[in-house]
Formats: sequence, structure tokens, C-alpha cells
Amino acid sequence: MYLKNSKKIVIKIGSSLLVDKSKKIRLNWLAEFSKDIRQLLDQNKKIIIVSSGAIAIGCKKLNISKKNLKLDKSQAIASIGQIELMNLFSKTFSKNKINISQILLTLDDTEQRRRSMNAKRTFENLFEIGFVPIVNENDSTATTEIKYGDNDRLASRVAQISGADCLILLSDVDGLYTKNPKLTKNVKLIKEIKSIDKTIEKISTNSVSEHGTGGMKTKIDAAKICQLSGCFMAIANGLLERPIQQIMKKNNCTWFLPKISKLDARKKWIVGSVSPKGELIIDEGAKKALKKGKSLLAAGIKNVLGKFNKGDHVKIVDKNNKECARGLSSFSSDEINKIKGHHSSNIRELLGYIAKSEVIHKDDMVEI
Ligand code: GLU
Repeated sequence: MYLKNSKKIVIKIGSSLLVDKSKKIRLNWLAEFSKDIRQLLDQNKKIIIVSSGAIAIGCKKLNISKKNLKLDKSQAIASIGQIELMNLFSKTFSKNKINISQILLTLDDTEQRRRSMNAKRTFENLFEIGFVPIVNENDSTATTEIKYGDNDRLASRVAQISGADCLILLSDVDGLYTKNPKLTKNVKLIKEIKSIDKTIEKISTNSVSEHGTGGMKTKIDAAKICQLSGCFMAIANGLLERPIQQIMKKNNCTWFLPKISKLDARKKWIVGSVSPKGELIIDEGAKKALKKGKSLLAAGIKNVLGKFNKGDHVKIVDKNNKECARGLSSFSSDEINKIKGHHSSNIRELLGYIAKSEVIHKDDMVEI
């Protein structure tokens, strides 16, 4: 139900789904999984895949064990494995006519607003041309201090910045049980979790799987991020054939329900974050357009106050100095000074480089 209603979906695949315990690549599984993705695309859903496996596949190629691997070694191994990983996706997915692209993210790409906006745009542009982005952490350059370290939290950040409706963490367990199913009998799968209280924290025991770095703990951390981003999240068993179809049919997984709506989350982020760095004074035409939910274009801007960078938080005021909206600017104040009052098609000539056509995109703006 939650999955069916979602238009933008992030699916995270753990390493143990791609590489089995005897270090064999699970080719059949991936082939079946690609049918799931085909089906979702045919339903006009936008899909982002976050895939682990670079280090596991790199280790396989070099025939070494992942255990006790030092960071510098694992960085080199990730760069070997990542290309193999993408090759695997490319070959398998092309059989179902799925075009893929690769995005390697570092922590700053999601934690810094300006960079996260850029990443968001890249996702949007890939959707527009019908490509499925496959994301991993840029393990080859990330060091401990600047690392997510696990793809569960990375996936939740990707879901947050891309404005996804739901995130599915495909793992080697059905979901969260009342007790650790590997240690206890008579355990029950928890179907829905509205709030992550102490009991839930306690039962999220560290069930670390063979290849992945994340256990239940990082999945719960991911769920917390999703809950505050207005995004549904599921922990589901990816070991099954056609795991997404299984969720659609049987719903045998654990769902974490968002605490606020997606719109509220975005509004909170835009309105509630740091104080605005500047002001844009707009004309009546632009004000009307904003009321209709349109983006703010350069043509409607009369003046710029303050000095700010691309991605900064700005106030939008009318000619009587009344605040009408707030948003994240796609241009710096210097750039806006050059393009204000002009038609979007002249931006390239005025700035001397290709840039966005909206000064503030409607998704980055909240009407006040
Ligand atoms: N980024 C790592 C890899 O591709 C995996 C991290 C994780 O297991 O969550 O190998």
C-alpha cells in the first residue's frame, strides 16, 4: 500500500544480496531484481538504487577477506570493486531495457545544502531522461571522519534530498522482530512502527550481516531520518526472488511511518533553518506566479539585498516590503544582480555560462 502509493522510491541493496557467503555473485537474484525495477518503471515510478557491494566485489576479485581490512586498503579495493559493480548492473539491467547511471556521494554532498541541491537536480535530470541512478558512497576518497560508513544512512539521506516518498532497505532479514530471531524462538515481525521508542531501540540488536557494515542499528538511524523527512521506510527481506513484488503482494516487512508530511518536512527545512542571508524584491507579476505555485524567475526580480551564495536561504518580499515567500536561491546575489529583470533565455549570455532557468525553484520555496 505505502509502496504502491509512492511515486519516487529509493531502494537500498546490501552487499550480502549481491555476494553470497561463498563469495559468489548472485547473478540470478540481480536478474530477477531488475524485473522488479522494470515493473516499477512501467508504473511511471521514479527509482533510485543505493547499492553496496564495491568492497565485497573488490575483495572477491582480489581474492582477499573483507575482515580486518585497513581503511587505505579498502579505499583502493572499493575503486576496483565499484567498476565491477556497475558493470554487473549495466549488463543485467540492459536485458530489461533499463538505463542506469552512477552517482558516488560523499558526506558533504548531502549534509551541505548547496551541494545537496545540486545532487537533487542531478537526480531530477536523470529521471527526466529515463535513467535509473545507482548511488554508492565514494569509498575511495572518503576517510573515517567524512564517511557515512554504511549505506543505510546514506540511502535515507538520498531519500531525503531527492524528496522520495519511500525508502526500501533490502536486507537479509524480514524486518524488525520483537526479539532477535537468530537467538530466540517465538518472535514476531513488527509490521508498523510509528515512533522509535526505547523498546524499539533495544530490540534493534546488532545483527551485522556477512558483508555489509550496517546492522539493525544503522537501519533504525535511517528510519529516524526518514520519519522527519516525511518519507515511509521499510526494512524488507531482499534475499527472496523479486523482493519488491513480494512487498507489494505480501507486505511481509517492517514499515516505519513518517512523523510529518513530506511538504511539512521540506517547509520546516527551508523556513526553519538558518536565518536568511538576503532578500529578493519581486514585482506583482512574480508575486502572482508564486501564489500559483510557480518558480521564481529572474524577470520578476526588481532588486537584491544582501550578499549570499548559491544555495543560501533568502526572503522574497514584494514592493511594499511584505514577505511573501522564503526559499533557497539557485544563484548568488552577484549573479542575480546581473540577471534580474531579464528573461531566462538570456541568462547564459549575461553570465557567460549555462545555468538554471529558475532563480528559486518551486520545490525550494515556501509561500508565507
Ligand atoms: N559502500 C560500501 C560498499 O559499497 C558498503 C557500505 C555498507 O555496507 O553499507 O562496499
